[in-house]
Amino acid sequence: MKLSALWRRRNSRYLVLAILPAIAVCFAIVLDDLSFGQEFDKYAYDFLVRLEPPAPWPLSSIILAIDDQTLTNYGGQSGIRDALADGLEKIAPAKPAAVAVDVILADPGSAESDRNLERAFSETHNLVLASYVLRNNTWNEPIARFRKYAVYVGQVHAEFDRYDAVSRTLPLAKVAGIDQRWALAFDAFLAAKGLHVDLQSPYDIVAGPVTIPTMDGEEHTIRIRYPPFLKTGPFPQVSIAELDHDPGLARQFAHKAVFVGETVQARDSWTTPYSNGNSTPGIEINASLYETLAGGSFLVDASSLAVVAAAFALSLATSLIYGWGSGWISNALAACLVVVSQAIPMFAFAHSVVWPWLPGTFAAIFSVAIAATSRHFMVRRDLVQAERQRTRYQQAMQFVTHEMRTPLTAIQGSSELIGRYASMPEAKRKQMADLINSESKRLARMIETFLSVERLSAGQMEMKQERFALAELVERCCDRARPYGDRKQIGIDIVKLPEGDLSGDRELMEYAVYNLLTNAVKYSPPQTRVKVFGEDERGDGVRLCVEDQGIGMDKKEVSRIFEKFYRTKRAEQSGEAGTGIGLSIVEQIVTQHGGSIHVESEPGKGSRFTLILKRAS
Ligand code: ADP
Repeated sequence: MKLSALWRRRNSRYLVLAILPAIAVCFAIVLDDLSFGQEFDKYAYDFLVRLEPPAPWPLSSIILAIDDQTLTNYGGQSGIRDALADGLEKIAPAKPAAVAVDVILADPGSAESDRNLERAFSETHNLVLASYVLRNNTWNEPIARFRKYAVYVGQVHAEFDRYDAVSRTLPLAKVAGIDQRWALAFDAFLAAKGLHVDLQSPYDIVAGPVTIPTMDGEEHTIRIRYPPFLKTGPFPQVSIAELDHDPGLARQFAHKAVFVGETVQARDSWTTPYSNGNSTPGIEINASLYETLAGGSFLVDASSLAVVAAAFALSLATSLIYGWGSGWISNALAACLVVVSQAIPMFAFAHSVVWPWLPGTFAAIFSVAIAATSRHFMVRRDLVQAERQRTRYQQAMQFVTHEMRTPLTAIQGSSELIGRYASMPEAKRKQMADLINSESKRLARMIETFLSVERLSAGQMEMKQERFALAELVERCCDRARPYGDRKQIGIDIVKLPEGDLSGDRELMEYAVYNLLTNAVKYSPPQTRVKVFGEDERGDGVRLCVEDQGIGMDKKEVSRIFEKFYRTKRAEQSGEAGTGIGLSIVEQIVTQHGGSIHVESEPGKGSRFTLILKRAS
């Protein structure tokens, strides 16, 4: 294969492989930004939460549940305040660290219930009450009579996915008007630990020794770390009905943060990554947020830059593997890369970092698919080309041996005749000796030219540096080619030749020009003409053209005629014998002389071969 063709081919391969990472990463970023990409990431997140739950830790919170039985015992929803009052009074002696009540007490109830509840609140240490933002952007909050007993009034806004209702994050803060309120669980945490928020920045919140990394600057959203036992059962809880029945259960509330709320199915229920579609009462989610804060092991998002860099690295590695590796090794390494793309989010999650699943996975799979497919086609193309080249090479060898056989037969026949007939007339003997001499020289020249060009192109030989007149060389080539043209009644006209000398290997240059002339004759129908003309080029160059009225070539074929052993379809069909080697040698000779060769051709009309050469200085 010609060097330039090889370069072109390898180049296109590496170009594809080089731009692949950039394309893969762009696609990955776009996909990850689309809602379906985010869905993928969420499911992957839930999967990881289930796969790698955090190590269990001793809980510091408990739920005082208003369950179905409690509601039945206290006469339904209207009895909630009585139930609450009874429950709080029963657990007060156990001295809970804080009590967060997830019941909105925005309106007055019956006089007696409110009095009971007020009494219970007054006996409750570190009471936190609940509020939420109404549509008109004001707080729906406990009436003043209750609020005065609360150390904090927190907000109970839930955050869950619009599509699957899974609660993965919660806003630590909500703002209505100029009033910012912390989440009920966060207030309970602050109250229980005796802390205050010392600092809030767009990235984190600092409360005493605790720094909480947050996902956004406004609502300070954080990811909830659900305690692992929620996979198989509910949050530890005692219902008010159970407490009524066995007041001794109150001991379980000692020094714990207590979350009081309804656990009735179908009211205030969400799902969690663990709950597999089953609903989880909101009060359990609040308690889980408290445990997240108390546990201190927060999940943080991986930086976008790291995610993009990893996706890029995966894709780049794929390119390198397929660009330089071979066969099954590449495929095996590529499979390892896909595994790595899956392992990164898992490894990150094990270290409390949430790594989006889609970008790396997409970059790796997309790159492997494209690189493997393109390599498959490249290998197939190489095989087909190698097979074609082998066939052409065989044909060429047959032709070359045939070409050599003609002078060899003449030499052999003549020498035999001379040996056999001792009394041969002197004139005849001389004629035969001349024939042997010229044919062996022709043979030697043929071999010499082939070898010289091969050695020159392999850099094993220095080119001769003779000075010769171009016009004279062209005329000599035309004289040699004319008898060949006469056979097809094709005339060779020299129109005009440039003056001046060239410097280089005269014999090789003669081979090149002669080859162009014999090709012009060979690939032209009888009774046409071949025109040779030249002119000065700008600077120190000369231009020499050989133009015929022959079979011509397609544009696609023109780009390949300098490849070794390549022949056009038309040339094959013309019945003219050829090897497809000549032009590759011509091109090498011309380039070795610092020149270039160009072709213009039109099928059925003719071709013009132009040599641009440097004049001798
Ligand atoms: P060949 O021995 O086949 O002539 P060359 O290397 O000299 O080998 O030429 C390569 C191919 O280029 C030829 O087989 C032919 O298809 C095409 N070709 C060369 N010269 C001409 C021309 N003057 N007109 C049409 N086709 C040409």
